[in-house]
Amino acid sequence: TTGSMFKDICRTLQQLYEEAKDIKDGMQADYIPELAAVNPELFAIAAVSCDGETWVHGDAHIPFTLQSTCKPLLYCLAQSLVGWEEVHDHIGYEPSGQRFNAFALDEDKNPHNPMLNAGAIMSSAIIWTHLKQKVAAYKAVKAFVEEMAGHVTPVTFDNSVYLSELATASRNFALTYFMSETSQLLADANIQEVLELYFSACSLSCDCLGLAAIAATFANGGVSPITESDIMSPEMVQNALSLMYNCGMYDYSGRFAFEVGIPAKSGVSGALFLSVPGKLGIAIWSPRLDRKGNSVRGLHVAQRLVEEHRNLHVFGNV
Ligand code: GLU
Repeated sequence: TTGSMFKDICRTLQQLYEEAKDIKDGMQADYIPELAAVNPELFAIAAVSCDGETWVHGDAHIPFTLQSTCKPLLYCLAQSLVGWEEVHDHIGYEPSGQRFNAFALDEDKNPHNPMLNAGAIMSSAIIWTHLKQKVAAYKAVKAFVEEMAGHVTPVTFDNSVYLSELATASRNFALTYFMSETSQLLADANIQEVLELYFSACSLSCDCLGLAAIAATFANGGVSPITESDIMSPEMVQNALSLMYNCGMYDYSGRFAFEVGIPAKSGVSGALFLSVPGKLGIAIWSPRLDRKGNSVRGLHVAQRLVEEHRNLHVFGNV
């Protein structure tokens, strides 16, 4: 991005922030009790360009848990440990057309894609199996997230959310045992530790600027625009962006690809990040969710942004 284009986009984001602030629709996720306890009025937007310019607005320095926005990160760490081919021996490529926590596997009895719970639990199992030890696996995930965020702000761990999630995890345990019936990888793994790794990743926290820096590292082909460190190969990033494009927004993924056309990932904390390849990363955080699990204000800002800047859509230059 040239600096002036970045400034233009940030100006629009600021206007959209004011516009979206009045939206009170939706509700925080409550199946993890600690997420329901977050102030629903909090709202932040941040952007980081591929040249390393940064911009923040609103509650941009309050940390929130990554939740499902950690899924592309777990997928990329798994790819960097064992290579993408081996990752895809265990995880598919298709949108599932079902809820993010559905009991559904693809024709090969694998999770449909890495952006669903089943797929992210499988990425966690790959990381756990490769590193063999739960502390090493957790440290690798945390270090990876910190590097992706370019150390722009701290990455912390929210133990209350973690404990709350662990205490209400029956469905994720059931899903994992269900997969272990046909997955040798899971049959050989310690399922308790794999899930603890997955929940710890979901409970890692950063502020909106940190998430925008992560988004920008994806947009920049795996090189952090903040530190210039080369974290992932372009091939792994391409894989992650492709799957985010098709599967990153729960059951709204198809429509989001159609109308916004930017690879993105949302999470039940109300976090949403968008990676515009070669240009910039954007993060939006607002806890109230729609019925599909996407942040109501986040979705509004993304939709309106592309109305104003049509060339941000991957097919916006035709
Ligand atoms: N930790 C959450 C779960 O597995 C993540 C869900 C989400 O953000 O979609 O239920």
